[in-house]
Amino acid sequence: MLDEGISVKALTVVHDYSSRFPEEIYSFHKALGLTFMQFIPCVETHPSHRDRVTSYSVSAQDFGKFLCRTFDLWISDFLEGVPTTSIRFFESLLLSYAGFIPPECTLYKECGVYLVVEHQGDVYSCDFFVEPASKLGNIAQGSLTEMLNSPRQLQFGKHKSNLPKECRPCEWLSLCRGGCPRNRIRSSRDGSHNHLCQAYKMLFEHADPVLKRLACEWQRKQDNLKHIQSSTARVGRNEPCPCGSGKKFKKCCGRL
Ligand code: SF4
Ligand code: SF4
Repeated sequence: MLDEGISVKALTVVHDYSSRFPEEIYSFHKALGLTFMQFIPCVETHPSHRDRVTSYSVSAQDFGKFLCRTFDLWISDFLEGVPTTSIRFFESLLLSYAGFIPPECTLYKECGVYLVVEHQGDVYSCDFFVEPASKLGNIAQGSLTEMLNSPRQLQFGKHKSNLPKECRPCEWLSLCRGGCPRNRIRSSRDGSHNHLCQAYKMLFEHADPVLKRLACEWQRKQDNLKHIQSSTARVGRNEPCPCGSGKKFKKCCGRL
């Protein structure tokens, strides 16, 4: 597909073993031309001990290290302040810092903003909850809009905002929102706290200064651009940038 010019996004599951190889995984994707990446942590509840994860699930500590290292690799590939690879979670965080709604649903206050349609037409609340309790119907028998607004889907969405007590005073709550409910392992001991909490804390602390700086730079660019648009009739993309940098407009303030 890449040879045909079609952009491809790679969804890669990170488990207990692969989490040790962030450099190799990132370089492997790039070498294949897969510059759109999404890393999904493997977190599976143990079948006979519902308060534990399986042995192949990634630990919070290892996933935190993986995220921090991958974040640095993503940043090191920026060119003139613009990312040259796309990692959905990091881009979503950057959008959140810049005041936009991110595409990553794990950063939302509630779930339920999309649906998943299986091959036979069955519709579910989320691709991580393709199970009878989250089945909303079938596209042959009902409308997607009605299913999206159904009481069952609304109830599914609200579940996320029922936060474990450890999340409520957390300094990262407005960013993390308690993480994906799928990773809130059902232990009565900790109120179903997110298995990956420590990983998120490690990443947020590590990435916070850089994300603040990038969001500021982006905002400054936007302000510059607005100023230029209001003060110049028209600037050609190949003309010198009116901000006085000496670069072409398309390589400077015209680069969004
Ligand atoms: S359960 Fe997780 S993946 Fe599904 S909608 Fe909620 S946050 Fe997103
Ligand atoms: S970082 Fe941990 S404590 Fe804080 S909101 Fe996220 S899951 Fe909750």
